[in-house]
Formats: sequence, C-alpha cells, structure tokens
Amino acid sequence: MTNPFIKELMNGKENGSFLALDLGGTNFRVILIQITDGIFDKEEVEYYNIPKHLFTEEGTKLYDFIAISIEHFLTNRGANDRHYDLGFTFSFPMHLEAIDVAIHTSWTKSFSCPGVIGKNVRELLSSAIQRKTNLDISVTCVTNDCIATLVYGSYFDKRCAIGLIMGTGNNACYIENTSNIHKWKDTERSESAVVLEWGAFGDNGVLDFLRTKWDRIVDKKSVVKRTYTFEKCLAGKYLGCLVREALVTLAQEGLFCKGSTELLETHEHLKTSQISKIEAEAFRDELFYTKDVLSSYLELEDVTDDDARIAQYVCGLVSYRAALLLSLVTSMLLNRMDRPHCTIAVDGSLFVHHPRFKPLMELLIEQNAPGKSFSFLTTKDGSGKGAGLVAAIENRIRNS
Ligand code: ADP
Ligand code: MG
Repeated sequence: MTNPFIKELMNGKENGSFLALDLGGTNFRVILIQITDGIFDKEEVEYYNIPKHLFTEEGTKLYDFIAISIEHFLTNRGANDRHYDLGFTFSFPMHLEAIDVAIHTSWTKSFSCPGVIGKNVRELLSSAIQRKTNLDISVTCVTNDCIATLVYGSYFDKRCAIGLIMGTGNNACYIENTSNIHKWKDTERSESAVVLEWGAFGDNGVLDFLRTKWDRIVDKKSVVKRTYTFEKCLAGKYLGCLVREALVTLAQEGLFCKGSTELLETHEHLKTSQISKIEAEAFRDELFYTKDVLSSYLELEDVTDDDARIAQYVCGLVSYRAALLLSLVTSMLLNRMDRPHCTIAVDGSLFVHHPRFKPLMELLIEQNAPGKSFSFLTTKDGSGKGAGLVAAIENRIRNS
C-alpha cells in the first residue's frame, strides 16, 4: 500500500506545456501535453522500443536511453529550446516519500537492471537528462500507471475513484477516506488515493489454494521469481505463457497435437495478443485463425479441428479465470467504497483488445458487488498523459 502524494486534482487553473514519460512494461512512451485553463489543447504520444539488452544491463543505461528518447521526441518537433516540467510514470514497486522522492524497491515484469534499486527514480532520471542532453527539464513528480490513469480519468469524469491497469502488468489504486488510513498521518485531506500493488497479492501463500501447476511453471520461468503471484495469474505478460504451458501438458499426455512441440515449449513464444484473437474466433465459432496459429506459428503437425477447439477451450479458461480474479478484487473495492457511482479508469492493452475481458468483468462485478453502480472508462495512454496532468497540478500549486 503506497501513498502517491497527490495533493489535489485539476481545478481549471492549470496552464502550460508539460512532458510525461510512461515506463512500465512493454511500450515506453514520451508524451507532450498542452493545457490552457485546465483544458487539453494538444497531446502528442510517441512509442519508443526499448532495446532488449537494456532490460538487464546496468540501470543507468536504461535511464540514458530514456533521456535520449526525450531529446529525439522534442528535437523532431522543433520544441527542444524551452523549459518543461516533467511527470514520470514509473510502474515498478517504489517507496514514495514525497511527490518527487521515489525510492525504487524492486524490478518486476521483464526488467532486472542492477545498480538502481534503493535510489531515487527522480534523481536517476534528472542525472541522465543532464548527462546525455542539453534539455532544460525539471522532473517534478514521479507517479505510477494506476495513479496517472486515475488522475487522467477524473479529468473526464469526477466520479472516477479507481485506476486500474491491465497491460503487461496489473495494479490498481482507489480513493479511501483518510481517517481509515492509520499508516499515514494526513490531516489535510478527507480522502486520499491508495496504490494497492495487488500484483504482489498472494506472495504470502494466501492464493496457493487456487494456483495450478502451470502457475508454478510460469513463475519458475519468470524474470523475478516467487513474487507477484496475483499478477502472474492474470496480466498480459503471463496469459500467453499460461495457455502455452497448459497445452504443453496436454500434448505430453497425448491429448493435443502430435509431432514436435519445440515451439510450443518455447517460453513466451505464444503471445497474449494471439490469445485475444483466438478468443474472438471462438466467439464466432470458427477455427481458421486458431488452426493457423497452431500449424504455421507453432509448427505443430496434422492439426485437427479438435486440436483447435482444445486450444480455444484452454484460452477461454485462462481468460475467464483472469477476468474472474480481477473482478473479485475490483468488487471488493466497490463494496468497500460504497459510493453512489464509481467510474473505473482503465488503461492497458489487455483490457482494450481482449474481446471478453470487459463484458466478463461487467457481469462478474455485478454478481460480486450487487447493487453497486459502476462503469469503465478506457483511457488510451492515460497512464502516461496522467503524469503530465500531475506535473501540471504541481506546477499550479507551486506558482499559486
Ligand atoms: P504497457 O504494459 O507497456 O503499459 P500496454 O498497456 O500496451 O503496455 O500492454 C502491453 C501488454 O498487453 C503486452 O505485454 C501484452 O501482454 C498485452 N497485449 C498487447 N496486445 C494485446 C492484445 N491484442 N490482446 C491482449 N493483450 C495484449
Ligand atoms: Mg502501461
């Protein structure tokens, strides 16, 4: 549970151009937003592919890459000659001591860069910008993806009280009555956002009753092992792996596809985006795409209609379990908050692209939070743009 140190939301008095960065899972984004009297004038987003070797090399090299990407982004737009405040969405476990003091505590997902754990994320980024560029940038706030999504969501809908991430990883934050938070002494505000880091739910064994042998295999093959139990049951990075491992077992037991299973056994070969497409096809009661993935992509031999149906069934089970688990914890939040209506701001490709996630979650939440009014607000790149809004709010507070 983390305090994000967001003092206020937007009040219509924010002005200026602000930079935002979103570093979390797969897609690193640089964003420029322009705000006049609290209204978006312009927003530009560019995706930068992080070279594979930077996921594991010395952490300062990753920060250097980020700094160079910002310079590339601004130079391309002829906008590298002025000062910017920058909000940094950094979606890894960190201990926030202030809005601009974020101590990085561990890596998750695919990252394991040495040399940066225990350091202030803001200082690492500021030093890289100074080292690698001539840009005039103040890193004024560090936040994470779910908080930024919540802030971005509340720009569109004031009833927004949950920020949910379903991309490479999974996390959420919600609005709590400050009087219920015994850990923080904050008498200024009646409500505060709380970051749950629920990806780590189950690390103490409480979810062992539902973990399967495939969950354990996926954990064993993951970069950071024996942690982030909940996330590994349902996040985008792991769904394809779970399906693949279950199919490997079925093949070994002679129940699924014959011949070589070399590619089927290759870690991370089957992508979650393919699970989405297989799910969409299963819904249409067709087999063409599924058979193509099995025979052309996984190079399995003599793929039959039954093999394709088995693969679709496994994709359905793994997806359903993910949606159910996420719905249960989301329902718990809705029941706890007990608001007249709660808008849930969501960002992440899994939620956006998987054909069954949203409808399933709507159904399952209705069952598990009966009578609670809620709606989803999908915020494309909200997890980055929200950091720009946080920078704008901080700027307004500082100058008032
Ligand atoms: P990030 O996690 O870097 O913020 P995204 O929110 O775009 O980026 O999530 C990327 C993750 O979403 C990928 O790692 C992949 O697991 C998953 N994903 C990408 N495309 C799809 C898709 N079409 N269907 C389901 N999941 C997807
Ligand atoms: Mg993200």
